[in-house]
Formats: sequence, C-alpha cells, structure tokens
Amino acid sequence: MTTYRKILVAVDLSPEARAVLARACELRGHYSSEELYLIHVVEPIVLGGDYDLVPVMPVEIEETLLQRAKGYLGTLVREMNIADVRQVVEVGSVKHEILRFAEEQGCDLIVIGAHGRHGVATLLGSTANAVLHGTKCDVLCVRLGE
Ligand code: AMP
Repeated sequence: MTTYRKILVAVDLSPEARAVLARACELRGHYSSEELYLIHVVEPIVLGGDYDLVPVMPVEIEETLLQRAKGYLGTLVREMNIADVRQVVEVGSVKHEILRFAEEQGCDLIVIGAHGRHGVATLLGSTANAVLHGTKCDVLCVRLGE
C-alpha cells in the first residue's frame, strides 16, 4: 500500500494557504506520516541597471521579509492548531527552493496550490506546474480559485 512518510506543503502568504495546509494535514493523518514540513520561499527583489539584471536583496529588506514570513507561518500554524510541523522559510526562486528542499529531505509528497487558470495564464505556467515537472516524487495540487 502506498504511504507518504515525509510530506512537504508549500504556501504563499495568501488566505488560500489555509486550504493547502489543511489538505496536507488530512493526508498526514491518513498516512500517519513521520514528518510534515511547511515551506514558504521569499523571492529576491531584482534591482536592474541597464541590461545587467542581478538578483539582489538589500539585507534589511531581506530580514524584514523573512521575519514577516516566519510570523505568518507561525500564526497560520497556531490558528489552525497544527502540532509537530516543521516551519521553513527559504530565500530564492520559489520553484527551485521547493524542489531543493524536497530532494534534500527525501520528501515523498509535495502538496501545493493550483489556480484554475485558462488560456494565456496557463501558457505562462504556474508554480504548481513547475514543481510537478521538476520532481520525481508525487505532487498533490489543491485546486484553488481562478
Ligand atoms: P501560483 O501558481 O504561483 O499562484 O501559486 C500556486 C501555489 O504555489 C500556492 O498555492 C503555493 O502552494 C505555492 N507557492 C506560491 N508562491 C509560493 C512561495 N513564495 N513559497 C512557497 N510556496 C508558494
């Protein structure tokens, strides 16, 4: 029988994060998983000069964003009354950091939100799509609004 030992749930800082996290918690209960990791990725701000675009994040801004993200995850977990969840905040590309963390920790399931976009928005791609095509482990996309 399939089981998931280590589940990684990725959330942005929107109210929709609750639905994604709630689904991951249900799965953890169902599979009696050993670990549940909750990750949020802070993306570097790109400061451009001429054609030389470099991802740079001034230290103070990075610190503020990190604190904000940590505070948000903490509040989310408290309000939803979730025990034994490892909260992780990383800096970098959302897709890359989610995939890297999942690989490093040996996660066997990634839970992520997916918007029901159509047309051009679908062509532009989404975080869920990028993660789905970048990992060997199972991915559960929680359907969110348009
Ligand atoms: P998107 O397609 O980028 O609107 O995001 C869809 C899903 O990707 C969200 O519901 C989250 O599960 C995940 N996600 C988006 N941004 C982040 C982020 N900064 N850190 C972690 N997960 C994210």
